[in-house]
Parts: sequence; structure tokens; C-alpha cells
Amino acid sequence: MTPSNTSTDSSEALVLDGKATAYAVRSDVAVDAAALTAQGRAPGLAVVLVGDDPASQVYVRSKDKAATEAGFAVSTIRMSADVTQTEVESIVDQLNADDSVDGILVQLPLPRQLDSDAVVDRIAPEKDVDGLTAANVARLSMGRPGLVPCTPAGCIEILDRHGIDLSGKDVVVIGRSQLVGKPFAQLALARNATVTVCHSRTTNLAEHCRGADVIVAAVGVRELVQGDWVKEGAIVLDVGINRNDEGKLVGDVHYASAAARAAAITPVPGGIGPMTIAMLLANTLKASAARQGIQLGSPA
Ligand code: NAD
Repeated sequence: MTPSNTSTDSSEALVLDGKATAYAVRSDVAVDAAALTAQGRAPGLAVVLVGDDPASQVYVRSKDKAATEAGFAVSTIRMSADVTQTEVESIVDQLNADDSVDGILVQLPLPRQLDSDAVVDRIAPEKDVDGLTAANVARLSMGRPGLVPCTPAGCIEILDRHGIDLSGKDVVVIGRSQLVGKPFAQLALARNATVTVCHSRTTNLAEHCRGADVIVAAVGVRELVQGDWVKEGAIVLDVGINRNDEGKLVGDVHYASAAARAAAITPVPGGIGPMTIAMLLANTLKASAARQGIQLGSPA
């Protein structure tokens, strides 16, 4: 199904409200978490925060708050910025061995002296609720069940909850990061889209976008995607989070001009950002149910 409102009038473009959609996902997760708790135990999430990067502290606080509100048992392990690789890995090992922990999240970026890939790969794949271990990346690319990175999972979830089907669509993903671009491309392929992945060396980005039924911008360049890059009636998902000269949050898409042509578009803020945390909860719930051997009703 495509959105019923496919008008090209900006005032009628469907705004894909990430805040409201994330709220709905989180409510579903809370219901399932209560059922899980009644039949076994509450989903357990452990967050590892190394150092005192202010942005990371904010992210960890909001993840802790959201997970607590959903009825999860949350623990945050804080480590000083000068920890060694062995110390961080030994914490991950302890959490892997802790039966009450279903999800382990190592907040990135880690301080420079640490090998992030090695730390992430140390996480047991069934507890890897960020979906970043090599094992889960392989599963995603092979189309096998596993845990999927939260931001691209949030992009799919917001489409699903608005009845937008990717099958047969031409999807252009801008950005090829492990965190967003590549896993989104895999998810879209799995939904039978025809996927083009653009990146910093793409020479004709605007032309690729102009042919797209769906544009997913995950770049980190403010307002890169202009309205005249957007085909009339296209779907636009803006993952980017940037600040403009006035310090206001803006996406990778020039919202007003893109909304004037799109059938549906996510705003920044209030679009994909809230979905990311909601999908962390959904992943942790899924990991917990699988580890406890309990089948739940409503999929998130
Ligand atoms: P990244 O820096 O790892 O990757 C950026 C990608 O964009 C790269 O693949 C690069 O090739 C490509 N790129 C850079 N400049 C380009 C250009 N001019 N044209 C085309 N491609 C270009 O970033 P990331 O982690 O994927 O994040 C991307 C954006 O999404 C950032 O703004 C980040 O803050 C945001 N983000 C948001 C959420 C969320 O929850 N909403 C989560 C993760 C990232």
C-alpha cells in the first residue's frame, strides 16, 4: 500500500511522525515486557559507557529512561576514559555470562586507544541489541534472523506502521555506513526494493535521487538533498541530525522544498531519531523473549 495522500501540495504531504510512531512501538513493547515479566523475568539491558563525552551521556540517559519506562531492568556501567582494551572486554565478558542481561549496548564512539570493532565483536550475538557484531551483520546480509541495527530498523518500522511497502520500489540510500546506510540497504533488498547506495564518491547524486521512489538520507551534511532532487510523490526518510548556523537541528534534507514534492516525509527532529530508541527496546525485548524461550504476541 502507498500512503493515501499522494498530493504534491506541500500542505498535504504526509508527515511521518516519528515521535508518535515511536510512542506506539514503545507502548507495544511495554505490554510485551509486562507479559514477559509475568511469565519469566523483566528484559535486562546493560549499557556500557566509557569516558565522559557529553553527547554519549545524553544518549545513554535517554536509553536508560526509555528502557526503564518500558519495564526493563537497566544497568549502566560507567568506565573512565583511560580504561584498557582488556578492562572493557572483561566487562563485556561478564555481561555475556550474566543470565539476567539480555541486551548489551556499548555506547559508541569509544575513546581512541580502544579497538571498537574488537569490543563490539566480543558481545554475544544473541545479546547484541545494536546489531553491530560481525555475526549479526552477516546474518542480515544472508537474510537470516538476527538483531538489526536500531536506526535502519526504525526506518523500516515507520514505513510499516504507515502502510508503505518497499516491494518493487526504486530506493536510493545516501550513505554507506555500517550503522545506517548499509544495513538499511540490506533491509530494503529483503523487502524486494531495487536499491542504489550512494556515497561521498557518487558523481551524479541528484540524478540518482530524481529517479527514486524512496530516498533515505543518512549522510551528516545539512540539507544536502534539495526539493528538486525529489520526484513528485516520492517517500523521503531523513536520518541526518545536524545543526544549522542558528544552532537549530536540521536533517540531511531541505525539508520545506522536499515536502512540497514528496508524498510522505520524516521531519528532523521528531522523525527517525525517536524511532532509533524505540527499536533498541524492541530488539532487547526480542532478545529477552528468545533467551527466555517465551513466545510473544505483538511483533515490534
Ligand atoms: P557516517 O559519517 O558514518 O557516514 C556518512 C556517509 O555519508 C558515508 O558513507 C559517506 O560516504 C556519505 N557521504 C558523506 N558526504 C556525502 C556527500 N556529500 N554526498 C553523498 N554521500 C556522502 O554517518 P552515519 O553514522 O551513517 O550517520 C549519518 C547521519 O545520520 C548523521 O547526521 C548522524 O548524526 C545521523 N544519525 C542519526 C541517527 C538517528 O537516530 N536519527 C542515528 C545514527 C546516525
